[in-house]
Amino acid sequence: MERKINFNPGPAALPDEVKEEFALAVRAYKNTGLSILELPHRSTAFTDIIEESKTLVRELCALNDDYEIVWLQGGGRLQFCMVPMNFLPDGSTAAYIDTGHWAHEAAEYAAYYGKCTIAATSASVQYSKLPQWPMTLPDNTAYLHITTNNTIYGTQWHNLPEVNTHLIADMSSDILSGKRDCTQYAMFYAAAQKNLGIAGVALAVIRKDLLEKTARQVPPMLSYQHQVKQNSVVNTANVAGVYAALLMLRWTKQKGLDNIAAENNLKAKALYAAIDKSKVFNARVTEATHRSLMNVCFTAESPEAEDAFMQLCARQSIVGIEGHRVTRGFRVSLYNAIPLSSVETLVGLMQEFESSL
Ligand SMILES: *Cc1c(COP(=O)(O)O)cnc(C)c1O
Repeated sequence: MERKINFNPGPAALPDEVKEEFALAVRAYKNTGLSILELPHRSTAFTDIIEESKTLVRELCALNDDYEIVWLQGGGRLQFCMVPMNFLPDGSTAAYIDTGHWAHEAAEYAAYYGKCTIAATSASVQYSKLPQWPMTLPDNTAYLHITTNNTIYGTQWHNLPEVNTHLIADMSSDILSGKRDCTQYAMFYAAAQKNLGIAGVALAVIRKDLLEKTARQVPPMLSYQHQVKQNSVVNTANVAGVYAALLMLRWTKQKGLDNIAAENNLKAKALYAAIDKSKVFNARVTEATHRSLMNVCFTAESPEAEDAFMQLCARQSIVGIEGHRVTRGFRVSLYNAIPLSSVETLVGLMQEFESSL
């Protein structure tokens, strides 16, 4: 079977080593005599998987014991619900920075549970840059929610100033893409299917002082406190999904966050440089310091040119580069598992395309 070069935004490409190890576990997980797909969620084998994954998250994110770590189901969107359900008390306001599709949706979900304000937005420029940071927050702000990387519009916060409220971040599309001070956050979460594994699990990391401030009684499945108490096994957990995340965490540690960050920089630099010097392709985000290293969004001069380039890529087995339906053009996702060589192949094709015009 011909192999594709996979630039999909999520579910995203996985490293070969991770896929091979996962395939072995599908046949037989360690000496259990069972497949990872059959492993009971209350077995010691699965408890070991959870514990090792938590240790690796703690280590890779440089977290101390002030933080609790849980694996949940329902992807990124369920976190959009659980955050306000658990942490937005009546009488307080949740502040959201609206930097694109996901950030906006997170704010919309919060409005079901309480008062919600948009502290800053770049909607008026179609989210082609980040909004100005210093913003005034209401006195009774319960937390400020940000999206560290805007998967659809291709912007990313590279530096965050201090904020004087609980900072909660959706890191779905750039978690562990490099070193960052995770202790700035009272909570962060990430759907796994971009840098952390496969769809069906989400990681949530919550500081204990925030956890203690849980705003209301919610059903056990939706309660962070209860999920923490039950060590992520309130119901039948996504055993194979958490195992895939463990394999990704081991791979991340083995590669080293510094090396991953350096490679992510090189990949993004190569692609942005090709776009910037091209006469056919145009970057969506022009402000260099706002550009995402994970999702590079660009257009071509005409819809016809876009179709032609898309077809050229398809003939070369490149998949997953079409832009989100709301932005058109192209979006190339350069998550941790993407090798520099794949970017070089794409850049070569862009140059070939341009000189053929
Ligand atoms: C992909 C993504 C999501 C959505 O995750 P689902 O698991 O599909 O709900 C949320 N936020 C960001 C930033 C994303 O990139």
